[in-house]
This record gives sequence, C-alpha cells and structure tokens, in this order.
Amino acid sequence: MDRTTLEAQLRDRWSEQPVWGEVECGEGWDDLVARLDRDLCRLVPGYRLVQVKQKFGGLRYYVDLPEGTTPEMLAEAQARIDEAERESLRTCEDCGAPTEPGMPRPGRNRCARCTAGA
Ligand SMILES: [Zn+2]
Repeated sequence: MDRTTLEAQLRDRWSEQPVWGEVECGEGWDDLVARLDRDLCRLVPGYRLVQVKQKFGGLRYYVDLPEGTTPEMLAEAQARIDEAERESLRTCEDCGAPTEPGMPRPGRNRCARCTAGA
C-alpha cells in the first residue's frame, strides 16, 4: 500500500464537503487507514469521509454516516474507528513499524529508527 493507492481507494469516499479532501497523516499509516476504510464500507455501506488526520500523535478519522444508519451500525463503526485510533498509537506514522504503545501527545508517533534518522 502506498499513498497513491490509498488515495485511489478513498477517491469516491469523500464527502461533498470534506474538510481537506486528502489524507493528512504520514504514509506509515496508509495500511491502517486502508483497512479501516474497507471495514467501514462493510459495516456502513455508503459512509462518507470528512477528514483524515493526525492529532496528538494519533489518527483522527471523521465520517458522515448515511440516512438509515441504525444505532447498532453507528456503534460498530465508532468501535472500529476507535480501534484504528488505538492502533495508530502503536504504529510509526513515518514507516508503519510497531512502536511502544504511545500516550496521546503532541507530534508524530515514530519508531526509534525514524526518530534517530530525523
Ligand atoms: Zn518508523
């Protein structure tokens, strides 16, 4: 998975009023975002993407859910997004390698190698 492939996967997912309209986090999370998107498509068909970004070192994934979304679907989608946000705190935002589980904090969550190479 690279950014071009991810952007292509998400191309038809963006809301009519996206906050930015492109993925605003490091490429180390591309796989994580692609898996999240695939699961959400299954859980809530027709969901729309509003914003994807990094905040306090973790993924933020904002969505619009279509009319007809049941409370159960909403809960499942939210749980899946929460899971991805937790996973991002254990995944280097630069290269995708595992990191020590991080606490939310300013700046990117990066593995020791990426931190040393910076
Ligand atoms: Zn890294």
